[in-house]
Order: sequence, then structure tokens, then C-alpha cells
Amino acid sequence: MFSPVVSKFGGSSLSQGGQFHKVKSIISSGKKRNCIVVSAPGKRFNGDLKVTDLLSEIHRLKESGESYERLLLQIQNRYQEIFCHLNISKDMGREIHKVCKEINNSLDRDFILSRGEYLNALIMAKSLGYILVDAKDIIFFKENGVLDEKRTDQAIHNRLSKEEKVIVPGFYGSNSRGAVKTFARGGSDITGALIAKGIGAALYENWTDVSGVMTADPSIERSAKTIPYLSYKELMRITQEGAQVYHPDAIPPVESRNIALHIKNTNSPKESGTIIKGDDQHGKD
Ligand code: ASP
Repeated sequence: MFSPVVSKFGGSSLSQGGQFHKVKSIISSGKKRNCIVVSAPGKRFNGDLKVTDLLSEIHRLKESGESYERLLLQIQNRYQEIFCHLNISKDMGREIHKVCKEINNSLDRDFILSRGEYLNALIMAKSLGYILVDAKDIIFFKENGVLDEKRTDQAIHNRLSKEEKVIVPGFYGSNSRGAVKTFARGGSDITGALIAKGIGAALYENWTDVSGVMTADPSIERSAKTIPYLSYKELMRITQEGAQVYHPDAIPPVESRNIALHIKNTNSPKESGTIIKGDDQHGKD
């Protein structure tokens, strides 16, 4: 696959139907955005719950034998709203129903949590006419729970080199028994970084709801400004100090192959965002 760009869209970028339209227009504009990674729907407004939070609560309620059906219905309705907005075939309603039934029948926490990303990928793939590649077939964890980097790198290379335009659900892979295993919360950034590494991308775009890495939290500090350029090391320091904009574990995969990372705002795509490269790379192109 000739795909110099991997583009990952976070939960706030895909929280509801209107956001899917923005993402679709970003994907179809300009660059060769052939390899797309998606998170689960995030918060639509202050006080809203992310779909992953709802799924986590469903798992907790199931374990303690309490009723969870109301939350499952809420999730089903959220996806229903998204797919109705996108004018895709009615079969998608049946697919969503089927996955909700699987959640209903499962007690496996990682499987339940992963379905948020899976459903978003299913809808996005259908809506764009891209092929869905399940993350459990290309991202592998060892028996001790640690990522199997070598196997993952190989599988991404082998599988994604064959496809032209793909959507991959973020946040999970599979364990040594082939069952779904999730990363830590916020782990879709890691999925995108591993894919960028595995296919040898020239660029990893990370689309979120702020215009790059800011000098302060823009929801608190109105005068916060975008930092235009950072090195991987500077980004590591900023994320380890608590900035939520990018997962720190998603830095080493891009750094190891010197892949430029570009953090951009789905709600304001013309803004330049933050470009992250090696210490000595800025200003070279
Ligand atoms: N949906 C997962 C979470 O809320 C993973 C992610 O968004 O990256 O943590």
C-alpha cells in the first residue's frame, strides 16, 4: 500500500453524526489519507459520557449482577444517530444491533470496552467505502500482557501493504489466546503510532479537539496558544507532566522511525497545529 499518511481521529472528533461529516471531509481533502484509525465516540458536551465509559460501566454492572440494559440502549441510540446522519444502508442498524447483542452476551471486560472503537470503524468504513481491518488481526500482545512489537510490526506491514484504503479500530489488539486485549485508556493514539511505524509512513496525523499542543489547557486558559514545533523529547516531557493531548506510549513508535507527528484540530482543520519531529529535524523541510 502506498500510504505515506496515517490519520487517527479521537473520540471528540467522532462523538456524533455531525462530527463524522467533518472527519469525512478531512479524509477526502488533499493528502493521501488511506489509512485511518478511529476511537470510540467521545463526549458531545460537558457532563456527557464517552461510549468507552458507558461500556466500562456496563461491565461493572454485569459483574455485580445489576441491570445495565438502559446503558446498552443508550449506546445503541448513539450509534443509530451517527449512522442515520450518514445516509448509509439500513443493514448497518442490524450490524449495530448484532454487536450490542455480543456485548450483552459477554463478561470479558476488554472485549466489551473494545466495541466502541469497533462500531465506529464499522460505520466509518461503510460510509467511506474503505476496508475494515480488525485491530485484533494486526496488533498482538504476549502472554505476559506486553505488546509483541516484532509480531505486530510484521503483521501491520504484511496486512496493510495489501490494501488500498483501510479503517482500523484503535485501542485494542489480541492476546496470546487470540482474545481481544485493550491498551490503557486513551490507547488509540498507540494504535495509530504502531501502524505508522509498521507501514513506514512519512506522517502520522493525530486529529483531536484542540489546535495542537497548547501552552496551557485551552478550556481553562483562554489565552493559551499553540506550540508550532516540538521534538519527541519535549512532547514526552509535556505528556508525562499530564497534558492529555497525546498518549506518551505513542511517542516511541514514531520516534524510532523518525516519523513526523502532526497534532491537528478536527473542528478547525485550517489551523496549523503542532508538528513533532526529532531534535535536529525541524527546519529541514
Ligand atoms: N476509547 C478509549 C478511551 O476512551 C480509547 C481512546 O479514546 O483512545 O480511553
